[in-house]
Amino acid sequence: KNRYRLWDSMLQFIAFFELIILGIVEIYMLLAHNAPGWVWLTSSIVPFTIIPGMVIVTLGLYFKVKNKAFHMLVIGAFPFNFWLLLTSWSEVFSQSNFMSLSDETFRIIELICISWLILFFSWTLFMRYNELRHEIARKDLERERLAKEKEQERSQLIEEQKLVLENTVTERTAELKDSLENLRATQKQLVQSEKMASLGELTAGIAHEIQNPLNFVNNFSEVNAELLTELEAEAASGNIEAIRAIAADLKANEEKITSHGKRADSIVKSMLQHSRATKGEEELTDINNLAEEFLNLSYHGYRAKDNAFNVNMITEFDPSNPQVNVVRQDIGRVLLNLYNNAFYAVWEKSKTAEKSYRPEVRVSTKKSDNGVTIAVSDNGSGIPGDAMEKIFQPFFTTKPTGQGTGLGLSLSYDIIKAHGGELTLDRNGKDGVTFLVIIPTEK
Ligand code: ADP
Repeated sequence: KNRYRLWDSMLQFIAFFELIILGIVEIYMLLAHNAPGWVWLTSSIVPFTIIPGMVIVTLGLYFKVKNKAFHMLVIGAFPFNFWLLLTSWSEVFSQSNFMSLSDETFRIIELICISWLILFFSWTLFMRYNELRHEIARKDLERERLAKEKEQERSQLIEEQKLVLENTVTERTAELKDSLENLRATQKQLVQSEKMASLGELTAGIAHEIQNPLNFVNNFSEVNAELLTELEAEAASGNIEAIRAIAADLKANEEKITSHGKRADSIVKSMLQHSRATKGEEELTDINNLAEEFLNLSYHGYRAKDNAFNVNMITEFDPSNPQVNVVRQDIGRVLLNLYNNAFYAVWEKSKTAEKSYRPEVRVSTKKSDNGVTIAVSDNGSGIPGDAMEKIFQPFFTTKPTGQGTGLGLSLSYDIIKAHGGELTLDRNGKDGVTFLVIIPTEK
């Protein structure tokens, strides 16, 4: 029906026509019993025009349609239909030779025709079934082939993508390596510039610290010069007792000059150490001395910048502290950062606080089980909650531009970690903070 629409419609039309004619004849026969001549004539249209017409159409299709199954159907149906045609003709013509066939012969021929029909129909069905099976198998094979092809395509694509990815990874790794090197160089520069910045802060403190021993050296030198003049006079008069007394004074003054000279020397040395870019050597260090030395440096540094700066400093150093092996200038930098932050916090608070507020920075050391703990406390305004997590991050600062780099605590943290110790925020509140530095004797 789908492939040969026209032929199909023709067959349907003929069949419909046949039904109408037969219907009319039958009804007439039922009602009138004795059909007139024209009814017989009309009824004879069926076997002589319609049925042959259908046979012709079917035969036409037989040659047109190149389908084995259809051919078999037509061949199978042909004898039976032909038999039907013959019997209908014989009825019309009342052919005596047909009618004279015995009932048995008639039935046998009919049976043969029907068997022929069934045989061919079954054969066709079997063939069709086989065809379908083959078709399904073929389709399965085709599907498998397509799936295989797709799989191959996919694996090829994956292979290509892998290559692209590998190339990208290599490129990115190279870029990352570059950036890492840049970062390392920048970090080195930053550490160095931080050092130089804190050295700048230190200069005023250092100047003050050196001034003190220098004053002593100068004063005692002058005194010694006068004593020497006296000594010459006493030597001229031969007063041995006086000469001895003057010599003792000279000696005492000389010792003082040497001691203060050494102090100035050590301050200059530590300043030089502080500015050096190379990694310093570890040396046995008295933490109490170091803590005090840098507290003074930091305090005087602040005072040099601001004359009004005045903070109460309280120190509690544990005399039983053992000497610890540290890089002096590094621990000095850590302490300097903590002191500077503490001084900044209390001094800023004092600018806005009530008159009764007394800015105070407290530094204490304590011997612990495996080292020394330094506590730096202040009574400033503390660190606000949202900033607390960030204070150890590089570049985090709440200070105005030019006053803070945000590197102090992060560098200090790294230094203390490198010493196997710990730097923690121990207390934080509206009444100030305490930072703890734990330096172990054994790493
Ligand atoms: P900087 O001092 O250059 O800002 P730091 O890393 O030393 O960098 O400090 C980071 C921040 O931590 C400071 O800007 C400040 O907000 C906070 N901070 C550090 N110490 C104190 C302190 N003693 N009191 C209050 N805030 C502090």
